[in-house]
Order: sequence, then structure tokens, then C-alpha cells
Amino acid sequence: MDIRYRRPRGTRDVLLEEMERWRWCEERWREVLERYGFGEIRTPLIEPTDLFTRAVGSGTDIVDKEMYSFETKGGEQITLRPEATASVVRAYLENGLTRQPGTLKFYYLGPMFRYDRPQAGRYRQFHQVGVEAIGSPSPVLDAEVIRTALALFEAVDAEGLTVQVNTIGCPECRPGYVAELQAWARGRAEGFCETCRARLEINPLRLFDCKVESCRDLLGGMRPISEAVCGACRDHHAALRTSLAAMDVGATEDPSLVRGLDYYTRTTFEISARQDLRQSALCGGGRYDGLVEQCGGPPTPAVGFSLGVERTLRHLYPEEFDPQLSRQSPVDVYMACLGQPAMIHALAHAELLRGVCRVEVDTTGRGVKAQMKGAHARGARLVLIAGDDELAAGKFQMKDLNDGHQREVAGDGLLAAVREVLGS
Ligand SMILES: [Zn+2]
Ligand SMILES: [Zn+2]
Repeated sequence: MDIRYRRPRGTRDVLLEEMERWRWCEERWREVLERYGFGEIRTPLIEPTDLFTRAVGSGTDIVDKEMYSFETKGGEQITLRPEATASVVRAYLENGLTRQPGTLKFYYLGPMFRYDRPQAGRYRQFHQVGVEAIGSPSPVLDAEVIRTALALFEAVDAEGLTVQVNTIGCPECRPGYVAELQAWARGRAEGFCETCRARLEINPLRLFDCKVESCRDLLGGMRPISEAVCGACRDHHAALRTSLAAMDVGATEDPSLVRGLDYYTRTTFEISARQDLRQSALCGGGRYDGLVEQCGGPPTPAVGFSLGVERTLRHLYPEEFDPQLSRQSPVDVYMACLGQPAMIHALAHAELLRGVCRVEVDTTGRGVKAQMKGAHARGARLVLIAGDDELAAGKFQMKDLNDGHQREVAGDGLLAAVREVLGS
């Protein structure tokens, strides 16, 4: 077979039983999110490029290297969203929600796009479920948001997860620390890797993101930002710890947790699991009190997170999914038909049955034996066989695959007979 088209690198198809897994997770997540008071928001997959370059910030990998940006025929600069927080804030402002009292709590679920190097569990089109809670500066909300993220993992029976938290200060205390860090690191620049030497000039805090052993060792000599924040940030962090403890959430301090994005303030956190022989983050978030104002709104505190759907599914189902070994969507009733008139007879009755159960009408024209195999493969409980004789008498042969029992059922008694067996 000469397949002409292939999906772009770093993308994937989700189908058959794997799609059922996705749906199972998504349904649970929606349930949990609504219980925590979040309502769904759907924003466009495309946004003005400016939104991300300004909100996410240059000096981040996302903006510098990973955006799918293009100019439309009308000359607009457009980007496929690499993340959703900036879009939610844009929507919050554009829809006039700043006038709403209280905290607005949104959740989203959908694809994001980053031109990243594809590797195991990482894709250029990937999916996130996330929340944004806009309007409260309270550390209690930070704790509730972290608890919400954990609840999402619990809802799909994920195990072995750990929570890491950190504080990265505020506009009062961070600039001083960043200057101190920069001066300290400049004096040791030759000890850092090439990436770090560039970061050191553009976004020094991101030195903590580096995974290179020698960089990490070197940074061990600099006090972490959590030890340099102001009193208000320290109090915020202490109250976060108290709130988490009140819900029995154990969290470890991780001073290297600075997040790659510019808009975070104070709380940052990650939830990670052991994956591919190392600890990897499945979910990350934090407080971003400056973003709404940066996007042109009034000063408005906010906090949120996003969870990687592919990574989480990989954690839940580590084995590679093989579409060849997957069954098709299950049905309750399988209608095996011999000849086109019998198919039409079956199709008309299927309409009635579909009011109460899942029905497949076999229109392949293959032999009855092959159709029976098809019924088993789809997990059907009942097979209704229609051939010339049944058609002439307006009947069906009804076979219960549970016990092999077969009997004749008149067309007008079919619905009742099927309901009786299925208990529907
Ligand atoms: Zn501060
Ligand atoms: Zn480095």
C-alpha cells in the first residue's frame, strides 16, 4: 500500500480504545472541576501573536523558539496558542468580566501548539486541561487550586504523585534578587553552559530551569529566591503551607521551581510523577498577579495551572497503544443481514432499537459466520439475524451471545424483546 499523506511530525491520531480512555478522563475531569466551582471556557485556537509575545514574554523558550506564527492573507499576525492562560485573560477582559464581583473560575480543555523537539510523550500539538481563578489575592485560593489539580489526578486513579511548591516573590522583592543573581552569575559565567550564559543576560531566574549537572552544582552556591523574598511574600507562602496542611496535602519545597513564564508571582507549583525512569512534571501552575494589568486590565490577582493530558495518559497507560489490537466501539445489538432487502428491513427496525441501546447494522454483505464474528468483536450481547425467510415473515432470529439461546421474534415485538434481555 502506498500511503500518500502522513500527519505532521510531532502530532498524533487518537482513536478507538485510546479515544475511549481520553473520554473517560475528560468526563471525570469535568465533573471534578465543576465540583470545585470552575465553569468551562473555550477560546479560539488562534490569537494575535502580540498576546503571547507580551504576556508570556520574550526570553522564554515558548516565545523565542516554539510558536507557530504566521501572517494571514489580510496581514494579521496570528499564532496558534502555545498555552491558554493568556487567552483566558484576554477573554476575561474582552468580555467585560472585570465588573463581575467575586472570583471568576474558569477551566479549559483542548489542544495547544509548540514547535518543540518531539520526544516520548511530548508533541507539537498536545492537550491541556487547566484552570484560571481570577480576582482573589488570597493564598487560600492558591491552596484550593493546588488541591483541584490533585483531585484531577485522583479522579483518574493516578498514583505516585508528589507536589512541589516555591515562591518567586513579587515586583517589590524580585527585581532586587534577580539583580543579585545576575551579578553573582556573571562573575561565574564561564562555569555555566551556553544556554545559561544566554539566560543570564535575558532572564536570569531561568538559570534554575537548567538540567545540566554542572550548572545545578554551581547554582547551589547562590541562595534561592524563596530565602530572599519580602515579608508579604513570606507570609503569603506560610499561609499557603497552612492551607495545604489543613487539607492534608503534603508538599515539598523546591527552590528551583521558577517556571519559564514571566507572569508568575509568588506561588509556583508542580505535580510530578516518576516517568521514563525520572521525575517528570505532569502539571504546573502558579499565581500571576501581574498578567491582567499587563494585558490592559485593572490590577487583578489570579492563579491557575495546566495539566498535560498526553503525559498524564502516558503515566496511566505506560504501554504503547496499538490501534491494530484495539476493538471498535462496543454495541449492544448487532444486526446480521443476508442480502440488501434484509439490510433495509434491519435498518428500519434499528431506528426503533436505537432509542434504548447501541445498534450496529452489518451492511458488508459478508457471510453469516463472518458477521457473527463481527458481533463478538464489538462486544454485542444480542445478534438479530435477518435473511430472506425472516424478511418474508417480518421477523428476526434473536441470539443471546451470553448463553447461546436463539429464538424467533416478530418485528413488532422486537423492541420489547431486546429491552427484556438488556434490562434497558
Ligand atoms: Zn515580595
Ligand atoms: Zn545550564
